[in-house]
Amino acid sequence: MRTNIGIFLCDCGESLENIDFEMVRKKAGEFQNAVHVGLSSALCLEEGLEEMVSAIRGKGVNRVVIAACSPLLKETVFRKALEKAGLDSSSLSMANIREQCSWVHQTDVTEKALEMIRMAVNRVRLIKEIVREEVEVTREVLVVGGGLSGMKSALEISRLGLRPTLVEREPTLGGEGFYVLKPFPGEVIGSMAKAVEEDENIEVLTEASVVKVDGDVGSFSVRIRRGGKEFYRTFGAIVFATGQMTEISSADFKQTSNIISQQGFVKMLQVPEKFSKRPEVIAFVLDLSGESSRLSTLSVLNNALAVKEKLGSEVYVFCKNLKVDSEGVETLYREVRNRGVVFVKFEETPKIESCEDGRVRIEARELLLGDEVTLFCDLLVVEAKPSPSKGAESLSSMLKVGTDSQGFYQDENVHLYPVFSRRKGMFFVGSCRGDLDPTRTWMDVSNVAMNLYELLSGGKVRVEVDKVKAEPDKCQACLTCIRVCPHSAIRLVRSERSGETKRPFINGKREVAQIHDLACEECGICTSICPAKAIEFSGISDEQILAEIEAMGEGRIIVFCCAESAYPVADSVGKLGVHYPPQIRVISVPCVGRVDLIHILKAFEKGAAGVLVMGCQEGACQHLEGNTRAKERVKYAQDLLEEMGMDRESVKVVNLGPNMAWKFSEEASRMAERTEEGKR
Ligand code: SF4
Ligand code: SF4
Repeated sequence: MRTNIGIFLCDCGESLENIDFEMVRKKAGEFQNAVHVGLSSALCLEEGLEEMVSAIRGKGVNRVVIAACSPLLKETVFRKALEKAGLDSSSLSMANIREQCSWVHQTDVTEKALEMIRMAVNRVRLIKEIVREEVEVTREVLVVGGGLSGMKSALEISRLGLRPTLVEREPTLGGEGFYVLKPFPGEVIGSMAKAVEEDENIEVLTEASVVKVDGDVGSFSVRIRRGGKEFYRTFGAIVFATGQMTEISSADFKQTSNIISQQGFVKMLQVPEKFSKRPEVIAFVLDLSGESSRLSTLSVLNNALAVKEKLGSEVYVFCKNLKVDSEGVETLYREVRNRGVVFVKFEETPKIESCEDGRVRIEARELLLGDEVTLFCDLLVVEAKPSPSKGAESLSSMLKVGTDSQGFYQDENVHLYPVFSRRKGMFFVGSCRGDLDPTRTWMDVSNVAMNLYELLSGGKVRVEVDKVKAEPDKCQACLTCIRVCPHSAIRLVRSERSGETKRPFINGKREVAQIHDLACEECGICTSICPAKAIEFSGISDEQILAEIEAMGEGRIIVFCCAESAYPVADSVGKLGVHYPPQIRVISVPCVGRVDLIHILKAFEKGAAGVLVMGCQEGACQHLEGNTRAKERVKYAQDLLEEMGMDRESVKVVNLGPNMAWKFSEEASRMAERTEEGKR
C-alpha cells in the first residue's frame, strides 16, 4: 500500500512567532509521500481535530505527522482522533516544535522546525501497524502470607469476584497482628480469620509454602509444598504479604525478665489480672538502635494509653523522634500526654542496667532540659527491631524481584509505585515491604485489589502482539537478553524454525528466545544488547532511529532522551524560558538502555558534532539498569572514537533528575562550546 503522509501544523493560537508557518507549510508539502499539509491555530480543540479527521479521510492519509506542542500533553487526544478517522492510533509521529523549538530559542527557528518535521516524517514512514489481540488470563490469585495484610487482601480480592488462594506457613491464620492493641485487637484478627475461613471463594492452605514460580503475569505456574507433597497450580497474579520478623537487639542491654518486647507486653496487657504484682512504673524506649518504625510508635502510644486505663501505673516514654505522620497519630500522641504519660527526648542512646532490687535503671540526657534523667522502673518495654521475614532473600532471588538496602521486598526506585514490583503481576503489601503502619497497609490492599480487578476480572487482556519480538531465525539462544531483561519477560522456548544456532537441537527442535507480550515493559534494552540483532522493537526500531538521524543536517548535537525522565526535563527548559543552542535535536527513546552503538556511530557518520545520552539519575532508572547499559555503551563508543582519532568527549552520558532543566541547558551548551572550540 502506498504511504500517504498527512502533516498537520499548529501555531498554538499564533503564539509561535519565531516560526514562519507559511514557509514551513510550503516546504513540508515537498516532502516525499506528503499528500496534505494543514495549518491550525488550535489543532487540539474540537474544530481543529474535526478538520484533521476530515482531511485524513478525504486525502486517503494513512500516516500522520503532527507538528505542535509536546506529545506529553496532547498525544492521547491526537491518537484518539486518528482512530476516529479510521487509522490505527500507532500511525502517528509528533514533532515538538513548541517546547523544544520555538520556546527555547529567541531567534527565527523556521529551519529547525522544518528539520524536526522531516525527522518525524522519516520516523512515521517506517511505522509498522501494531496487531492487538486478546490473551486469556486466569482469575485465580495467589496470596502468600496469612497475617493481617494477607487475610485482608484475600477478602478484598474475593469481594471483587476473583478467586484467591491463601498460603500460610503456620498452622493458623493471624500472623503477629496483635503487636498493636488498636486498631487490631485480638478479637478483630480472630473475626477476620473466621471470615476468610468461611468465605467459599477463598481457598486456605495452611502449613504450606511456595517452592517455585515459573511463567508470567496472567498464568504463573506455582509449585506449592504442603504436608510433604508438592503440586502445581496456575495463578494470574501473586500478592506477597509475608510480613516481617521482629527481635530485641541484645547489643543494647543485658536481657532480664522485666525487660520485654512490645509484642510480649501486648500479650500481658490482654490479661492484666495475670500480672503477679502491678508495676508501679513502666517505661518504653524507642529509637534504641536506629530509627523506630511507624508501627512501633503507634504501638507505644496505644500501649501507654492502655497501661493508664488498665493498670494506672506511671508511664515514661524515652524516644529520639516520634513518628506521628500516620493518620490520627498526632491526636493519639496528644491524648497520651494529657493522660499523664511523660516523654523524655534523648539524643545520645540511654544507658540501661538491671538493679539488684529487680528494677531497671535508665539514664538519659533530656534534650530540651539539657539535664541528666535517671529513672527506676519495674518494667521496661523495648522495641523489637523489624527485619525481613525468614526466606525473603531466597524468595526474592527466585522471583527476580529485588529488595531494598535492608532486605525488604521492593527496590528503592522512585519509578516503582507502592505495591508494584519490577515484574508485572507480582505485588507486595504491608510490612514485607518496609515500615508500614496499619493505615498504609490498608491502602496497599485497596491498591492491589484495584489493579488485580483491572488486570484479571475480564479473564482476557488486550495486548500489542510482537511489539518487541525475537526473530527465531536469527536468535542464537545465547541467553544475553534473558539475563538482562529487567522485567523477566523473556524465556527460551523450543521452535520448529530452521536456521543456524550454537545451541543443540532437542527432539528435532531448536531453542530460541521468546518475549511475553504482557510481561514486557517495552524498554528496548534487549533490542540493543542482542549480539545477533535478532530482536526487533516495532515501537521504535533501529531503522526509525537511523532514519531520524538521516533527516538532520550537519553539525547537530543529538540528544537521546529517556521518555520517562530526560524528555520531560527537555520540555521544562522551554517552559521555564531557559535557552540552549539551536543545533540541539532530541530523539525520544523509551529508556536510554535502548540507545545502541549503531545509533551513536550513525550520528557521527551523518556529521553530528556531538551526542548526549540523557537518562535518569543513577539508581533511579525505571527499568533498573537502563542507564548502566547506556553508560557501558557510551564508554565503548568513546573508545572507538578515540581509536579513530576523534574527541572521545563528543559523546557523553548525562543523568538528570526531574527538576534539572538548568543541567539540560548547561550540558547542551557545554557540548556546543566544546565542538565549536574543536573546529577552531
Ligand atoms: S540475545 Fe539475541 S541471540 Fe541471544 S538469546 Fe536473546 S534474541 Fe537470541
Ligand atoms: S523490551 Fe525490555 S522488558 Fe521487554 S523483553 Fe526487552 S528487555 Fe524485557
